[in-house]
Amino acid sequence: MSITPFLPPVRTLMGPGPSDVHPRILEALSRPTIGHLDPQFVQMMEEVKAMLQYAFQTKNELTIAVSAPGSAGMETCFVNLLEAGDKAIVCQNGVFGGRMKENVERIGATAIMVEDEWGKTIDLNKVEEALKANPDAKVLAFVHAETSTGASSDAKALCELARKYDCLSIVDAVTSLGGSELRVDDWGIDTIYSGTQKCLSCTPGISPVSFSDKAVAAVKARKTPVQSWFLDLNLVMGYWGKNAKRAYHHTAPVNAMYALHESLVMLQNEGLENAWQRHYKNHLALRAGLEAMGLEFVVDEANRLPQLNSVTIPEGADDADVRSRLLNEFNLEIGAGLGALAGKVWRIGLMGHSSRAENIMLCLAALEAVLGNKVKTGVALAAAQKQLSA
Ligand SMILES: *Cc1c(COP(=O)(O)O)cnc(C)c1O
Repeated sequence: MSITPFLPPVRTLMGPGPSDVHPRILEALSRPTIGHLDPQFVQMMEEVKAMLQYAFQTKNELTIAVSAPGSAGMETCFVNLLEAGDKAIVCQNGVFGGRMKENVERIGATAIMVEDEWGKTIDLNKVEEALKANPDAKVLAFVHAETSTGASSDAKALCELARKYDCLSIVDAVTSLGGSELRVDDWGIDTIYSGTQKCLSCTPGISPVSFSDKAVAAVKARKTPVQSWFLDLNLVMGYWGKNAKRAYHHTAPVNAMYALHESLVMLQNEGLENAWQRHYKNHLALRAGLEAMGLEFVVDEANRLPQLNSVTIPEGADDADVRSRLLNEFNLEIGAGLGALAGKVWRIGLMGHSSRAENIMLCLAALEAVLGNKVKTGVALAAAQKQLSA
């Protein structure tokens, strides 16, 4: 057997992540590998921390990049805050709330579920009822930007509720970080995690997390050791901590950290609020085109994520066939529906570097070409262009 090098095609990534990676970030990845305790690498990590504080809008000392994907950031929050026997209130309005429940239960804690329909925002009244009914709950966990449906939830109001009922909040910001408004300190978020491959447009595999001082105190006050050695923040802090001696904990993914550093430099240069604004403007343009074709959004206008656009599949169109033709004929990836929405919707991502005018035009033109008379043709590009130049 002769295996040849793997040369991936160049795709346009407009699904739920990963998003298009900017060439500058790919170039950063190929810079020379140095030791993970090299003073210059340590200095770069300090910059990564400072830039993550900016991205999260926080002064939290414990703001770091976990050396594993977003799911590991999720697990970092749960395993550090919860112990066996604890109780957590978990909101679910899509796929990721379900994973939070799994995390809680594997710790031996109890998950009190607050469920909303897929595609809907989290209902604050139901959450408050659950908090009232469970005064012993330690944690309130929810997803800020539900990538499986395209719905956003009111993180500020949910964290206010958590504080009112003396719970620590765990916030999934994997898809919101860098793409839509997120203010960790102003909103009083206790713990938050994200991913590199969505609106930061970096390569997948790293999870930025941030813990408030109150959350750190809770981790330090645990009665039992964290069940995961790798994710135990008491140990990780010895590696990432400010005056830490940089004791060996694990070998950081050195080159991936260069890439994250580069993506954060780019975010800083653009300006966080400008990045939020760009995501919103491009969403409006894509939306104008999709609606001109006759496609309908799944999520109410008020709770729509600009970076993840879910639309219903038109009558007569074959979901899998359309997506595979987009991929094969146009090198364009869009996302399929998940769970309750499988086969019913497409999820079109406009995340990070993918959120650009040329991607919007490609996506609309390709969809028109593939869908033909199942949609209204000849109008989408003009509608999007009008919005882009507004
Ligand atoms: C993508 C995603 C995750 C998981 O991130 P991975 O990097 O795939 O582990 C978690 N939560 C949300 C909301 C996501 O979109």
